[in-house]
Amino acid sequence: QIKARNGHGLCFFDPEMQQKIQQRVDLEADLRVALAEQQFCLYYQPQYTLQGEVLGAEALLRWQRPEHGLVSPGEFIAVAEACEIIVPLGQWVIRAACEQLALWQRDPRLQQLQLAVNVSARQFRQADFVPQVMDVVQATGVQPHLLKLELTESLVIEDVQGAIAKMQLLRAQGVHFSMDDFGTGHSSLTYLTQLPLQQLKIDQSFVRHLGTQHTDGVIVQTIIGMARNLGLDVIAEGVETPVQKDLLAAYGCEFFQGYLFSPPLPIAAFDALLKASVVRS
Ligand code: C2E
Ligand code: MG
Ligand code: MG
Ligand code: MG
Repeated sequence: QIKARNGHGLCFFDPEMQQKIQQRVDLEADLRVALAEQQFCLYYQPQYTLQGEVLGAEALLRWQRPEHGLVSPGEFIAVAEACEIIVPLGQWVIRAACEQLALWQRDPRLQQLQLAVNVSARQFRQADFVPQVMDVVQATGVQPHLLKLELTESLVIEDVQGAIAKMQLLRAQGVHFSMDDFGTGHSSLTYLTQLPLQQLKIDQSFVRHLGTQHTDGVIVQTIIGMARNLGLDVIAEGVETPVQKDLLAAYGCEFFQGYLFSPPLPIAAFDALLKASVVRS
């Protein structure tokens, strides 16, 4: 086994590093077969109105990795991005989400249920992203305004004019957009006003310390005020306590998502939750 040390005593190649490299190689190899082997599924986390009605859900990707159990996107999305598997995977997510939305649409009680879907930068950057989404919308027959694509500030900043152009094309077909993790990126007000958005999603990092950290309250109030002035609706993610919810409501937040209400659920559990809930119609 080769070991190299430089003058500062840093080890460039040790068993621990070798293990890390091997894990990454295994992860990539496993990801490559996971789609074909149908190891991915979507979980659904409900989104609520102030009155406690279910407004819709966010679809969150999970990977049933053999011998590893259920894996969260934090552990594989970055690698999927780096090796471009995110492109077919992201397409699968949009299709699976729209198929589910189409099922709900057939139930008169669930016809207004919205579904938010996360879009990665590399997926959005594909030249055929817009026709891909429209193909799925048409094939599944979903009402486009019930599909809400979640973009991040960093994705938009990569190419603001390109992003606006793609968003406008989809917007013209009725698709909605939400700015995910809002407040963590480097949005400038100039382009924020140019984006055809319908919603800002307050990042959970600002929600977490509401009530304990004064500055986060100021940030949240500013985001809500900005959303209102831009004519956008606003949802808070990561709402875990009644105190956080009450403060958000007092600040004028209309929609809520977080463990206080429900964790992301597998489809059977989410459908059971819908049965037991008041759904906004
Ligand atoms: P995100 O879009 O900001 O999603 C919110 C994350 O917060 C989810 O983690 C959710 O399970 C978690 N969460 C929900 N409520 C609470 C709460 O009350 N407290 C806390 N601490 N966390 C809460 P998850 O499912 O592990 O997803 C992590 C990230 O992975 C997502 O962040 C999103 O950026 C990405 N992701 C998830 N699904 C997809 C997908 O289908 N495609 C792409 N490109 N990215 C995805
Ligand atoms: Mg999201
Ligand atoms: Mg988010
Ligand atoms: Mg987040």
